[in-house]
Amino acid sequence: MDRTFFQNKRVVVMGLGRFGGGVDSVLFAAKAGADVFVTDLAKESESADSLEVLKGVSVEYRLGEHREDDFAGADILIVNPAVPPDNRYIRIAEKAGALITSQIELFFQLCPAPIVGITGANGKSTTTALTAHLLQAGGGTVWLGGNIGYHPLLEIVGDIRKDDIVVLEISNFQLEQLARIQAAPCIALITNLTANHLDRHGTFEEYCRVKEGIFKYQKCVVACPAVSIFNAEDSITRAWYQKYLNDPGRKCLAFSADDVPNEYVKLFQLPGRANRSNLTAALAVVSCFDINPPAIADAISTFKGLPNRCELIAEMNGVRWYDDSKATTPVSTIAALNGIDEPKILIAGGYDKQISFAELGLCIAKRAKAVVLIGQTALKIAKSIELSRESDCTVKYADSMEQAVKLANELAVEGDVVLMSPACASYDMFKNYIQRSEAFISAINMLSKQ
Ligand code: ADP
Repeated sequence: MDRTFFQNKRVVVMGLGRFGGGVDSVLFAAKAGADVFVTDLAKESESADSLEVLKGVSVEYRLGEHREDDFAGADILIVNPAVPPDNRYIRIAEKAGALITSQIELFFQLCPAPIVGITGANGKSTTTALTAHLLQAGGGTVWLGGNIGYHPLLEIVGDIRKDDIVVLEISNFQLEQLARIQAAPCIALITNLTANHLDRHGTFEEYCRVKEGIFKYQKCVVACPAVSIFNAEDSITRAWYQKYLNDPGRKCLAFSADDVPNEYVKLFQLPGRANRSNLTAALAVVSCFDINPPAIADAISTFKGLPNRCELIAEMNGVRWYDDSKATTPVSTIAALNGIDEPKILIAGGYDKQISFAELGLCIAKRAKAVVLIGQTALKIAKSIELSRESDCTVKYADSMEQAVKLANELAVEGDVVLMSPACASYDMFKNYIQRSEAFISAINMLSKQ
C-alpha cells in the first residue's frame, strides 16, 4: 500500500476523537488526495479542539450522529480505536465494499523501519519513552509514538527511513485492529497483565486473548528473527514465554524487576519497583541492538520520567504534592503507593470500569494515612478499604477536585505527601486524565494563594 491508493477515494473517518488519532488520519487522507468525510457521535462542541486543528482543511462533517448512507458511500473507512469492531456501521461500510482500516494498521503497512511495539496493562508509556530514550544512545534515529503527548503517526511515516527504529506504545484497542490484518511489531513487549478495560472486553480471558495478538502475529523468519519479550513475574505472560520459546524464527526474552544490574539501579531516577520493572523491560529491548554499555548507563541516568506519572507538582509547608493522574487502574495506584515511603494522603476515584478494588482497598488501608474519594467509584473504593482489618485510614468524600485538594490540605501535616493517583479513568468528571491533572494543579495553586 502507498499514498496513491487514497487518491480520489471517498475516505470516511469514523470517530474524530480528542487524542489526535482522528486528526492525523484526516490530514493524511486529505494530503493523499482523498475526498474526506468525518463522522462522530460527539457533538461539534465536544470535538472543538480537533476541529480547530482541521480548520482550513477541506473536509465534510457529520457530527452528533452517524447515518447509514455515509457509511454505505465509503471507499475506505478509517475507524477510531475506541469503536468496537462489531459496530453496526462498520458492517454497513464493509457490506458496501469499503476497505476497513485504522490509523495503526495504515502505519504498520506504510512504515519502512522495524517497529518495537510495547503493550501491557500498566507502565506502557513509561517503558515506551524509556526504551526510545535508551535506544537513542545508539546514535541512530529513533521515533517515539503512542499515548505520550501528540504523536501523529501518519504525519511522520513519510519521513521514517528503513534504518531508523520506531518505538510504539500499542493499546488493546489498537491490537484488536492490528489483528484484523494479522500484523504485529518485529520486537514485541508486554509490561504486565491485569484486569483493565473489562467494560469493553467483557472477560479477562478475552482481554488476554487480544493482548497475546502482539506475539501471535509476529512474522517469525529464521534469517531475521522476531523478538518477543515477556514479564517473568506475571504468571500468564510467563506461560506465553514457555509457549513461544521453541518457535523457529523467534527469540524469546523474559525480564524481572530484580534483574536490573546494581550499577544501573543507582543511576535511575524513577521511584519504586514498578519502575525497575519498566527499566529491565526497556533493557531487554536495548539488548537486541548494538549499543555500548557506558552510553546506556548515561542514558539511564538522564531519564526523568513522564508528566502526570508520580510527578512532583508543589511543595507547601513541608507537604509534597504529586500528580499521578495517569494512574487509571488500581495496579498503577498500588505501584505509586508502594513507591513512596512518606505518610500519604491519597486522592482517588473516578469513572467505573467495573474492575475490582479489593487489592487496592487493602493497599490503601496499609499504605495511606487518609484518602479523599471522588467520582463514580468513591463508595466502591470506600467499601474495599473497610474490608481491611488493618484500616485506621481516614476516609473522606469530595464532589470536585477543588474540594478534594482542600480536604487533603486540611489532613496533611509537615512531612506528608498528597498523592493524586485515582486508580480510575477520568471520564465521569473530566474530559481526560490531562484535564483532571489541570484541575488538581489549579486547585493547589489556589491553596497557595490563600
Ligand atoms: P500506561 O501507559 O500503561 O497507562 P504509564 O507508564 O503511563 O502506564 O504509567 C501510569 C501509572 O502506572 C504511573 O503513574 C505509575 O503509578 C504506574 N506504573 C508505571 N509502571 C508500572 C508498572 N510496571 N506496573 C504497575 N504500575 C506502573
